Amino acid sequence: MHILVSNDDGYLAPGLSALAEKLSESAQVTVVAPDRNRSAASNSLTLDMPLRVKQMDNGYFSVDGTPTDCVHLAITGLLDKDPNLVFSGINNGENMGDDVLYSGTVAAATEGRFLGLPSIAISINSSQPRYYETAAVIAVQLLEQLLERELPSDTILNVNVPDLPLKNIKGLKATRLGQRHRSEPVIESRDPRNKKIFWVGPPGAQQDAGEGTDFHAVDNGFVSITPLKIDLTNYQRLDTLTDWLKEIKL
Ligand code: MN
Repeated sequence: MHILVSNDDGYLAPGLSALAEKLSESAQVTVVAPDRNRSAASNSLTLDMPLRVKQMDNGYFSVDGTPTDCVHLAITGLLDKDPNLVFSGINNGENMGDDVLYSGTVAAATEGRFLGLPSIAISINSSQPRYYETAAVIAVQLLEQLLERELPSDTILNVNVPDLPLKNIKGLKATRLGQRHRSEPVIESRDPRNKKIFWVGPPGAQQDAGEGTDFHAVDNGFVSITPLKIDLTNYQRLDTLTDWLKEIKL
């Protein structure tokens, strides 16, 4: 078993080494991760410059690109053989609800899936996590289950773990994505030359966080596991759109 591990927080992130070290107790692990924090990089690929790879003293590969670049490069060039699985994380901070569209953590898993491999994204719901070990143990349990029973090839797993000691975790829940209110406004400021600058503000508060959602599970001490698919087509609206388009005469 050979596992490719990546993330979006960068190759120095403690969540990355917590995951890689735990997985390497039962598998061969290769780490290919961005050279700095690329959170919220989404699925971006770098096309306007070459990518450079450095192997660090601990064996990790650091890439001056996005999480998607890392997984793409690893699978299509860097590694001699395809790994069996891609793990992305452990991300500092949750990736729930609308977050998944921006998340570089989820994107790294998506790229693994695009390239034909089972893929899991794992995040912990704290910006300064204390219990990486909990998420790392959950990762190994999911790995073991995946070896017993494969998942359909159109699915990646988006895992969010409460920042709690393992003994305080209530269980695992299959969830759907919740939704947030619209984002907080950008934060305006001035640079040292008195020019206006803007910082993107925080995400919106939870809106749809009812029972069955990822938000609800994690808020109640459960590990949330959402099966994500890549096809964003809103199939229920195809008929509505067909009717709507009839009015447009060419
Ligand atoms: Mn991140």
